[in-house]
Amino acid sequence: MTELLGTPKKRGGGIWKLLLALVILVGLGAGAVVSFRAGDAPTVSVVADKAAVGKATVFTVNAAEPKRGLTSVKVVLTQGALSKELEAKAYLAQPPWGLGPKTTTESFQVTVGKANVPELREGDVTVQVLAEGAGTWLKGTPKAEAQVTLPVRLTPPTLDVRSEQIYPAQGGCEVVIYAVGPSSVRDGVQAGAWFFPGYPLPGGAPDERFALFAVPYDMGDDSQVKLVAADDVDNVAEAAFVDRFTPRPFATDTIRVSKQVMEKVVPKILSRVPSFEDRGDLVKNYVAINSEMRKANNQVLVELSKRSRPEFMWNAPFVQMNAKAVSSFADRRTYYHEDQKIDQQDHLGFDLASTKRAPIPASNRGVVVLAGYLGIYGNTVVLDHGYGLMSLYGHLSEISVKEGDVVERAQTIGRTGATGLALGDHLHFTMLLHGLPVTPLEWWDGHWIQDRIAKKLGPALPLVSGEGTE
Ligand SMILES: [Zn+2]
Repeated sequence: MTELLGTPKKRGGGIWKLLLALVILVGLGAGAVVSFRAGDAPTVSVVADKAAVGKATVFTVNAAEPKRGLTSVKVVLTQGALSKELEAKAYLAQPPWGLGPKTTTESFQVTVGKANVPELREGDVTVQVLAEGAGTWLKGTPKAEAQVTLPVRLTPPTLDVRSEQIYPAQGGCEVVIYAVGPSSVRDGVQAGAWFFPGYPLPGGAPDERFALFAVPYDMGDDSQVKLVAADDVDNVAEAAFVDRFTPRPFATDTIRVSKQVMEKVVPKILSRVPSFEDRGDLVKNYVAINSEMRKANNQVLVELSKRSRPEFMWNAPFVQMNAKAVSSFADRRTYYHEDQKIDQQDHLGFDLASTKRAPIPASNRGVVVLAGYLGIYGNTVVLDHGYGLMSLYGHLSEISVKEGDVVERAQTIGRTGATGLALGDHLHFTMLLHGLPVTPLEWWDGHWIQDRIAKKLGPALPLVSGEGTE
């Protein structure tokens, strides 16, 4: 029995020794891991979205350490004695034995500019990124850094208004001549959400520019109309320049739309616009055409304006078609169907009615930029007269020009009709400046063009007197 008991006891002693050896080995191994299994040095980069720091330059920071993960990423700005921590992120690294979560990559953006660092001065600024990985007591902490140094520019372009007697009216146009410094990359007139770009003044000094601009039909005062010039880092100069503003309140109108009217216009438009989503209901389809399709068609006109030629293609007042005006510019229309208000839209052109299929004269010399079907406008011609000024002719029964044609003033471009969102035969005529509908009354008026536009532009717009267009 003793032997029998003794033998396992002996063996048991062997196991304990083995276990002890194993523990020591594991301990040594763990000690080695904890001492030597440090993470790698992170990779780190910082890239700016602009060539300088101005109002707000965005720096994109990337850091990575796949082995044990990152422990910290810090962004520091320095300029002379100024040192400012812009961002400090900390992470839990994976333990040396390789179990547990880790952050192997990090990517974020830091904005630097006068807006968030008011102490910035002109001169160079350095943005430095410091990233750390997981270290051990023996091997220390793996680190990496990256930095970028950029000039700080805080002075906006110089901006000097050269025109006097600028008298715009609500829904109307005007022109301003100004001079800008060479650092300007974007200048012109801002009127609320609308921007009217400036162009070099033909025959002017190298720094002289001009902008045709409009006050939107729905803007009742000129407080949001200003001349602006911005450099490549968003330093913006602004100047008020309007000498007198004339409000022209909306006319309002009520339109009753019967089922018969809807049945007349909805199917004919749907058959021409296959992309239109059929709402399966006559009234819903009518409202969608009147609102959504109108909006989409008007957006096409804004896009078209971006292709406008930088030249005056005309030199005489605009021709008005000899017809009766049955609706004028900027009419706020409320639509009713069976005593229910179904929609409200602004009518932003002149409706001119003559005999059926009357020939339509080009309002002035220009190039055809659209000749085809355009939703609510039906068969449509759009002429570009240059510098963002365009004229639109809608509801045509016949188009006799094609895109790219240069047409002369008063040349026939098509015939009136009732295509699109129209009942009777008429011409829908709109003048547009950079896609914004403006009143054509000014452009039809030779005196207005002379006083408000040509006088300021001088030799840049050599005007001849138009015949029978007063
Ligand atoms: Zn119309």
